[in-house]
Amino acid sequence: MKPAVFLDRDGVLNQEVGYIHRVEDLNLIPGVAQAVRRLNDRNLFCCLVTNQSGPARSYYGMDHVHALHQRLCNLLETEAGAVLDTLFVCPYLSPPEGGTNPEFARWSTWRKPNTGMLVAAAWEHDLDLSASFMVGDKATDIDMAHNAGCQGILVQTGYGSRVLSGDYQHHTRPDYIATDLADAVNWILTSGNRE
Ligand SMILES: [Mg+2]
Repeated sequence: MKPAVFLDRDGVLNQEVGYIHRVEDLNLIPGVAQAVRRLNDRNLFCCLVTNQSGPARSYYGMDHVHALHQRLCNLLETEAGAVLDTLFVCPYLSPPEGGTNPEFARWSTWRKPNTGMLVAAAWEHDLDLSASFMVGDKATDIDMAHNAGCQGILVQTGYGSRVLSGDYQHHTRPDYIATDLADAVNWILTSGNRE
């Protein structure tokens, strides 16, 4: 088994701009491509884990989500030769939470802060969750990390600073509070933080 670095999408890799209806509106946060490349160079498995409720809310289809991820991967590659080893997406949202499209309107163990995406990734790619890290900008990212036995790192990009000031979601106790993904990667790669 190997450790992984799980990465949230919006507010961690790309700028948080709400639901992205136009593919060209997905843009990287500065320094992110280089940070992912450093993980690649250390042979740390990089796995995107993202809640994307747009399809369940009938805002757009899965083809649009795939197009957004194609652009995300292209930007990472072009800017720094960086690669996401795999991508896990939860398009599901229960009707009480706003799901309307019958194809996706359901409760799912994959939706954060449930651990389904991490568990599925671990099974599929032989990952050691107890030696892995989750980097996110929401309290629910940290909740998912801890629910799965990973270390949770909160970045202050995206919603992160609002989570810390108490203006968004709920109080959370991350294992590390990072300025941004580059800082998070520095912490992950610091000897002593890894088993
Ligand atoms: Mg996010």
